[in-house]
Amino acid sequence: MVTEHSRHDTRLDRFVDSYSQRTNGMRVSAVRALFAVANRPEIVSLAGGMPNIKDLPLPEIAGSIADMITSNGTQVMQYGSGQGEPALREQILDVMALEGITAHADDVVITAGSQQGLDLVTRIFCDPGDVILAESPSYVGALGTFLSYQTEVVHVGSDEDGLDPTALRETVARLKKAGKRIKFLYTIPNFNNPSGKTQPWERRLDILSVCAEEGVLVVEDNPYGLLTLDADPIPAMRSADADVIYLGSFSKTFAPGFRVGWVLAPHAVREKLVLAQESATLCPPVFSQFAISTYLATQDWQGQIEIYRDMYRERRDTMLHALAEEMPDGASWTRPAGGFFVWVTLPEGLDSQAMLPRGVNARVAFVPGGAFYADGQGARNVRLSYCFPPADRIRIGVQRFADVVRRELEV
Ligand code: PMP
Repeated sequence: MVTEHSRHDTRLDRFVDSYSQRTNGMRVSAVRALFAVANRPEIVSLAGGMPNIKDLPLPEIAGSIADMITSNGTQVMQYGSGQGEPALREQILDVMALEGITAHADDVVITAGSQQGLDLVTRIFCDPGDVILAESPSYVGALGTFLSYQTEVVHVGSDEDGLDPTALRETVARLKKAGKRIKFLYTIPNFNNPSGKTQPWERRLDILSVCAEEGVLVVEDNPYGLLTLDADPIPAMRSADADVIYLGSFSKTFAPGFRVGWVLAPHAVREKLVLAQESATLCPPVFSQFAISTYLATQDWQGQIEIYRDMYRERRDTMLHALAEEMPDGASWTRPAGGFFVWVTLPEGLDSQAMLPRGVNARVAFVPGGAFYADGQGARNVRLSYCFPPADRIRIGVQRFADVVRRELEV
């Protein structure tokens, strides 16, 4: 009999013998675990990666979505295609063209955010024990997905230009010699989450040529590419090689709540992705797809991206300026040309995870670097995000952060 007590006793898990082995690989996201603390009003959160969407033209968006329901309600609230709505897939081609990609709408699969794209790609390619290569450091949400499929994540070294092709070649050789099966390289060429680094064009080509020589599939994750803050976007890897599997998203260029992203994949892969999508959701969220399609058709979405760029540029500059003024000697950090994140390397001997409670006491939240590695690296690193807090809060947050670092050095 289930008593009230046992139903609510979170220490006991009566189902512990029933779970699949797969659940052993599931991790609590360090970012999500911090959420409750970071949301307390007295805390300045430099932890989360939430986009700041308060400048969206909400009345206009509301009007066009209301019109959409009035004119087409029975379709937008109905089940839809497992691959995603054809009109939106066509519009996505225009978005990708801004980063040099030419493709066919038939090779686009809509997903519930690019996070679901990561899940579907891993699902169709990976068996337990397969190796996924990821740059050092790499997106925590991707690592969580990869580990939930019981894969082995192997990090590849990087330098100031991101993933290092020489390290990639060496890593592939070492793994092949050890008899491992490498399924793909996962990379974020633009404004990496968490490092903020961007691969220059030549670097992208070098990585592609190593992967082509070694027969390694490339998965390019690019949610931030259009949020370039200093220069025009660098063409996507997919623009140079049609075998690259490309993940896109409307979360950062419009709004994350619709949960709409996409995968652009070679034709054969796209077939498998649609099957996986159908088994996961029948079809990606139809109402959201039509809402995004309406937004792209009726609003100045490129103008909105400019507004986002101006806002994030000011916040990025504020954070870099504050770090330069406040941080003690021995610390260093990246200078992102876009996206949301700065990656800090603490002075020798400090441990970011151990420092976190003292940060929270000092009313500043950040993500310790270990979250962005599957292998225990990152103890001296911290991810700071400038996307959500306004400039004055960023300044205060960095002051508090620098104070905590300084106090750690005195201990
Ligand atoms: N990839 C990267 C690198 C990200 O930073 C994120 C979101 N933080 C995602 C994928 C997932 O984004 P979404 O599912 O909202 O498209």
